[in-house]
Formats: sequence, C-alpha cells, structure tokens
Amino acid sequence: MSRFWTAIVNTLDPYVPGEQPKDNNLIKLNTNENPYGPSPRVLEVLHHNVNDTLRLYPDPNTTALKSAIADYYHLAANQVFTGNGSDEVLAHIFQGLLNHDAPLLYPDITYSFYPVYCGLYNIKSDAIALNKSFNIEISDYNRPNGGIILPNPNAPTGLILPLSAIETLLINNPDSVLVVDEAYIDFGGETATPLIARYDNLLVVQTLSKSRALAGLRVGFAMGHPDLIEGLERVKNSFNSYPLDRLAISGAVQALKDNDYFNNCCAKIITSREYVSKELTAMGFEVLPSKANFVFVRHPHHDAANVFIKLRENNIIVRHFNHPRINQFLRISIGTQQDCETLVSSIRHIISQN
Ligand SMILES: *Cc1c(COP(=O)(O)O)cnc(C)c1O
Repeated sequence: MSRFWTAIVNTLDPYVPGEQPKDNNLIKLNTNENPYGPSPRVLEVLHHNVNDTLRLYPDPNTTALKSAIADYYHLAANQVFTGNGSDEVLAHIFQGLLNHDAPLLYPDITYSFYPVYCGLYNIKSDAIALNKSFNIEISDYNRPNGGIILPNPNAPTGLILPLSAIETLLINNPDSVLVVDEAYIDFGGETATPLIARYDNLLVVQTLSKSRALAGLRVGFAMGHPDLIEGLERVKNSFNSYPLDRLAISGAVQALKDNDYFNNCCAKIITSREYVSKELTAMGFEVLPSKANFVFVRHPHHDAANVFIKLRENNIIVRHFNHPRINQFLRISIGTQQDCETLVSSIRHIISQN
C-alpha cells in the first residue's frame, strides 16, 4: 500500500507466474516451456542481427512477421495482429473487444490471467463451471454475454474441444467475439483458423512461447476479421508503437519458416506426453487426455501437494494450483524424453514410499 497508488491499483490481484529458479540442475516442468530450444536458424538470425541497426526503431507494423504468419495460415496480412507475447495481445483484446455491458464468459478452471485482465480493465465476467469430467460444456455458454474466451486446448486441463463445438459457439453468439486462445494447439489439436473466413466474430490467439520454443523472445499474435484486427491496432497504437523489437521480429519470422525443425520438436513432445500418460496411468493416476505439452494428473491415494514437495526434493518442479476444484491435481510439463523418464521413476519411488 502506498498513498500514491490510484484506486484501481489497490484492487488489483496480479497474475503469479510459475517459478523461474536460479538453480540450473533442476528439471523444470512447471511453466510449459519447450525443452528443445528454438530452431538453429532462429539463433543464427538473432546473432546476425545484433549489430548497429539496433540504434534504429523496429518496424511498428511488423510487416515481415505479419506476412510470415499470414503465409503459414493462408490469411491476408490485415487479418493478423502481433504483440509482445500473447499475454500482451490478450490484454489489448480484453480492453478493446471484450469490455461490454453483458459479462464476459470463460471457464471456471482456465488460464488464470483472464480474471486478472478483467480486474485491470474493470470488465464484468462470469466463470462457467467445467463439467464433472473437466470438459467445457458449450451449452452452458448460451446466455447473454459480452464475449467468450477459452483456451483450446484448455489450460491447465489439456482437454480439447472439437472444431464443431467452436463453430457452434460462433453460430450461437453472432453478436459477441469468441476468442480461442490456441497457446497449445500445435501439440496435436486442430486450429480454428480456417473458420476465420466464415465468422467475423472469431479471434484466434497464438504464441511462439510453447511450440516454437521462444518464451524468452516474447512474441504472440491474433488472427481474425480485419475489423477486429483494426480495433486491436487502435489500442496498440494508443499504448506502445514498438512492442516487438528488431530481434524479436527477425527471430519470429525465421521460427515460422523452419517447419521441419518445428514439426520434429512437436512430434517428440507428443511421443513423450503419451509415454508419461501411459506410465502414470499404470501407477493408478487419473490422467486427463491431453492435447497440450503438459499433463494434468491426480492420484486417488496420494495427496498432490505432498507429491509436489517430494518431487521438489528430487529436483523436479511441477505446478500445483491451490484452486479448490483442482487442488488434488498436478500439472506436469513435458520435457525431453530423458526428463520424462526421470520424472516417471521419481514418482514411482515417491508413491511406493507411503
Ligand atoms: C502460455 C500461455 C499464454 C501466454 O503466452 P505468452 O505468449 O508467453 O505471453 C497465453 N495463454 C495461455 C493459455 C498460455 O498457456
């Protein structure tokens, strides 16, 4: 508290990111980072661009990046918006497209930044409960709303909605924007981007942080009807003309071009995810069927907080959320196959001991 804070600052309940420990000997499976690192072509371009041109401002319109994204998804450049991580893109979306008289709808168990933005921008919202099996029940979204936002696959459950369900939501809510946060779509899901051509109320958000292994570069983007994109540009250009620096733009362009490397990394992560799911299931865990680069698991006889602490003692960090509905679950990011094998044997040891 400070007497200098404005009234809104006193009400904020900020997002708490997963721990970034200083100790490099830990197996870090807590923030869904990609264990394989960015494409060598990205690193080469970044090295190449560390030079005198850094005295110049970057392209405020990120033309090269928008066209790389548009090429990848068969869209036009004016259907693409870019930002400093998808968190910043989401912030502009909340402020520019989701703040209406009727409440914004999102799942009760979801990416915990959504309620934070509602607090920052003073947006009315309703959290819609996931069903008993932790799936999003789209019929529950048939109520007056000022917008809908959901991750697909959802976080932290990893469960995916089929495109037919996304399309039903679009049809049922023609007068509000549906934001589909596809942070994890590249790990086996089907992107909603083909629906953009037919639905002017669809906005798809993606990030280079997970599947492209560039969490440290901070690049995210949104795709949708040009009118939605123009709204976001208006917000962005009233906030910061240059959210993406020269290195971020050049590295991101390369990341979207090196598809062999990208596909190969995603395939390895999917294989390891299936391995972890199978092994934990065999140990009696309930493993929600994941289409993301993490699994969400609980054991009927082993307390999640306790397993979390024991894993930490074994130098493995995972994520435990203290939300009442999910406090018996652990969210475990998929690391290298070797990390996953260490994790599995560590958990096997922990649960055999009590
Ligand atoms: C990781 C994540 C983001 C944020 O990604 P950045 O681009 O790193 O800001 C957004 N939404 C969901 C659901 C995520 O898990």
